[in-house]
Amino acid sequence: MASKRDYYEVLGLAKGASDDEIKKAYRKLAVKYHPDKNPGDKAAEEKFKELGEAYGVLSDADKRAAYDQYGHAAFDPRARAGAGGAGRGRGGVDIDPFEIFRQAAGGAGGAGGIFESLFGMGGEEETGGPQRGENLQYTLGITLEEAVQGVEKEIRFDRMGKCGACEGSGAEKGSRVVQCRTCHGRGRVVTGNGFISFQQPCPRCSGRGEMIEHPCRQCRGEGRVQQPATVRLRIPAGVDDGSRLRSSGQGAAGFRGGPSGDLYVVLRVQEHDLFKRDGDDLLCEVPISFVQAALGGEVDVPTLTGKARIVIPAGTQPGHLFRLKGRGVKNLQDGSVGDLHVRVTVEVPTKLNAMQKAKLEEFGKLCDESVNPRAKGFFDRAKEFFT
Ligand SMILES: [Zn+2]
Ligand SMILES: [Zn+2]
Repeated sequence: MASKRDYYEVLGLAKGASDDEIKKAYRKLAVKYHPDKNPGDKAAEEKFKELGEAYGVLSDADKRAAYDQYGHAAFDPRARAGAGGAGRGRGGVDIDPFEIFRQAAGGAGGAGGIFESLFGMGGEEETGGPQRGENLQYTLGITLEEAVQGVEKEIRFDRMGKCGACEGSGAEKGSRVVQCRTCHGRGRVVTGNGFISFQQPCPRCSGRGEMIEHPCRQCRGEGRVQQPATVRLRIPAGVDDGSRLRSSGQGAAGFRGGPSGDLYVVLRVQEHDLFKRDGDDLLCEVPISFVQAALGGEVDVPTLTGKARIVIPAGTQPGHLFRLKGRGVKNLQDGSVGDLHVRVTVEVPTKLNAMQKAKLEEFGKLCDESVNPRAKGFFDRAKEFFT
C-alpha cells in the first residue's frame, strides 16, 4: 500500500495525457489483463484491479484534478481534511474495478464504448436487428401569400430508402437466418472472473440471438440504400417563418426492415415587397401626395386578396394607420383572422417647375398659423429655449 504506483504510470501515460488517450490506454490494457483472458493468473488480476482504480480516477475530471494536485493523498481518508474537498462523494480509495468496468460497458451500443471494443473484436459486419430510421429535416422557402393562404408543395431530395434487392430485410436472396455465433443464440453475453460476473445484451445480434447468414450485397445488410424521394406536403394557411411541419414516416427508412423515421419541414417565409407580417396582422405602407393628405380623397391599397379602397379624410397626417379588419392572416390555432394595417406616408413634392413653385409660394403666403397648428404649438413651447 505504501508503494502505490502512479496512476499515469499504470496506464503507461504522461501526466498531461488527454481524456481520449486515457480511455484508449485503459481499453487496451484492460483487454490484455482481463481475468477472462488470464484465468488463475493472480498477477494479471492485480494489474487489472490497479488499472480499474487508475482509470476510475483519471477518467473523472474532479478526481483527476484532485489527484494531479495531491497525488494519492487526495483519496487517503487520513489526509482528506487537507485535500480541500477532493474526497467528496464517491471519491474514496475503494474503487471496485468491476464496477468501473460495468459502468463503461453500460453504454453498449454507444459509439466507441469499451463494451464494443471487448466483444466486437472479430471485425465482422454488424448484423443486428431492425432499427428505426433517422428523422430528417428539410428547409423549405415559401412566399408570404403561400404562408397566408396555404399551399400544396412537392419536394424532392435524396434519402435512405428501402433496399429493393432484399426488400429491406438486409438478407441476400435465399440467405438463412442463423444462430448468432457470438452468443450462440442466447442473446446475452456473460463475462466475469468466476465469482463476479455480469450479463450484457449481445452486441453482435442486438440481443436477438440470431443473425443473417449472408447480408444483402446491395445494401451491405443495412436493408436500405440512398435514393431520390418525392414527398407531397399540404401546408396549412397561417404558417409563419420558422413553423415546423412533421411528415410521419417520411424520414430515412429503418435498418433491416425497421420503421422509417419522420420528416420535419422547417418553413422559411420570404420577405414580401409590399407587406410585413406581425403575428396575425399585416402591415403595408402607402405613400400619398401632400395634396391628397390635405384635401382628402380615396386611395386603392393592395391586400393579399386583391385591392381595397380606403377613404383618406382631409388633413390626414403622415404615419396615420388605417385598419382593414379581417384582411390579415388566419390564425393556425384558433381560426381568428388578423387585420391589415395601412400606414400612410406623405410624399413631399420634389423637382418643382417654375409654375408649381410660384403657386406653392402663393399658397404659402395665404397660410397663417392655424393651417399648421402642430407647428405653432411646437414653436410656442420652444420659445423659452430661444430666449
Ligand atoms: Zn438490401
Ligand atoms: Zn448474439
